[in-house]
Amino acid sequence: MNAPEKSCTALGTLYIVGTPIGNLEDMSLRAIRILKEVHLIAAEDTRHTGKLLHHFQIATPQVSYHQHNWQARTPELMAHLQRGENLALVSDAGTPGISDPGFELVQACVEAEVTVVPIPGANAAIAALVASGLPTDRFCFEGFLPAKGKQRHTRLAALATESRTLVFYEAPHRLGQTLTDLADTLGTDRPLSVARELTKLHETLWRGTLAEAISHFQAHSPKGELTLVVAGQTMPTTPILSDAQLKTQLQVCLAQGLSRSQASRQVAHDTGAARRDLYQLTLELANLKSSAHPPPGIGGRDELQS
Ligand code: SAM
Repeated sequence: MNAPEKSCTALGTLYIVGTPIGNLEDMSLRAIRILKEVHLIAAEDTRHTGKLLHHFQIATPQVSYHQHNWQARTPELMAHLQRGENLALVSDAGTPGISDPGFELVQACVEAEVTVVPIPGANAAIAALVASGLPTDRFCFEGFLPAKGKQRHTRLAALATESRTLVFYEAPHRLGQTLTDLADTLGTDRPLSVARELTKLHETLWRGTLAEAISHFQAHSPKGELTLVVAGQTMPTTPILSDAQLKTQLQVCLAQGLSRSQASRQVAHDTGAARRDLYQLTLELANLKSSAHPPPGIGGRDELQS
C-alpha cells in the first residue's frame, strides 16, 4: 500500500521505523521510503542517524528525541502531527520503544487519536531468541535488569519460576555479575545462549549452562553488544496427581492382589510420585476400610521395603 505519505491531512501519522542493529543490509525498502517521505525524523541521536540517512541518501530533517528530552519534546512533536505533518521515530539501532525511547510518544498519539504505523525492522531480542535453540513458542522480554539493589533482587526473584524463555539485554562489563545472579536464582544447570554482535562481523552465539557461561566469560572477557536468552523453568513431564487420584490407582493395584509395598512401587513408577508418600496413602486406605469393616491382620505386616 503506497499512500502519499507526505500529504497534509487533518492529523499527521507517526511511523515507528525499525533500523539495523549492525548490518545496513537489514534496512528495509519500506523504511527507506518512509524516512524519505515524512516531514521530520525524531531520532535518539541525530549524529548517529545522520550516518544512516547519508548512506541511504535520505535528506529529511531530524530532531532529537531521547531519554533526557522526551518530556519537553513530546508536545513539540505532537504539534507537528496536529498540523498534519508526518513524523518518523527512529532509535540508534533496532526497534524504537524496545529498551529505547518511544513508548511515551506513541501513548500521546493514541490519546490524541493520531494514527501510529509500525515499520518493522531489526530487533536484537528476536534475532537472539530465534537463533538460541531454546523454545520460541512462549517467551518474555526482560530488557535490562535493574543494575543493583532491591529492584534487581525483586525482579530476579519473580523470574525464579518463570517457565517461558527469558530474554535479557546486558552490557559487557555487567555480564559476569548478571550470570552469577541468574545462576543463584535459576540454578547453575539452566541452559542459555549468549548472542554477541548480532548481524555484525564478529557475530557469535555461545550456548551452554549458566555454570559453564560463568567460567567461559571469566576466561574470555566479552566485548560488544550482548543479548542473553535463558531457558525457562522446565515443567515436570508427568502431571502432578491429587491424593484422591493416587489412591484410586493404588486401590486398583491392591484389588489385583499386590501388597501395599508392591502397589506403592507400581504407582510410583507410573506417576513419578514418591513411593514413601504412596505407602502412607495405602495405610490411609486401609484405615478407612478398617473403620468401615475392621479386617483381621491389618498393620505392621506389610512394611515398605527398599
Ligand atoms: N531497540 C533495540 C532493539 O530493537 O534491539 C535495543 C536497544 S538497547 C538500548 C541496546 C541493547 O540491545 C544492547 O545493550 C544489547 O544488549 C542489545 N543489542 C543491540 N544490538 C545488538 C547486537 N547487534 N547483538 C546483540 N545484542 C544487541
